[in-house]
Amino acid sequence: MATNRTFTMIKPDATAAGNTGKIIDRIIGAGFTIKAMKWTQLSKADAEAFYAVHAERPFYGELVEYMSSAPIVAAILEKDNAVADFRELIGATNPAEAAPGTIRAEFAESIAANAVHGSDSDENAAIEGAFYFNTRELA
Ligand code: UDP
Ligand code: MG
Repeated sequence: MATNRTFTMIKPDATAAGNTGKIIDRIIGAGFTIKAMKWTQLSKADAEAFYAVHAERPFYGELVEYMSSAPIVAAILEKDNAVADFRELIGATNPAEAAPGTIRAEFAESIAANAVHGSDSDENAAIEGAFYFNTRELA
């Protein structure tokens, strides 16, 4: 598949544990180019808006609390087949089910505090990226 973009966040458990640099190394080592990146912290309202698609799911309240509990690193990544390849690099949502060698297998604490976010489609990658970055910030 041609070059495309995905969106990631290094989540609060990973920034708090000091794993940000190691995770960025893994991402670059897997062939992704960083097109934009920022260290920031979500307010509760920001987290509610970002995860609005999950508003009806039972874990939504906890997810919003967790995602606003400490800083995150948001980034836009480019690579051939970026969306699918990045999902493969991070592994399953539940780290207990994540394949060995994936970022979640190595760094995630739990199904909620699972170290990284990765967009699930080109469409959502564009929507999620635009949540954090304006067009001037994108190379
Ligand atoms: N999540 C959770 N409990 C669950 C499922 C998901 O706390 O049972 C959290 C987890 O942080 C996950 C996020 O909600 O990464 C979004 O869920 P999704 O199903 O989209 O998983 P992902 O696409 O991140 O693998
Ligand atoms: Mg998802």
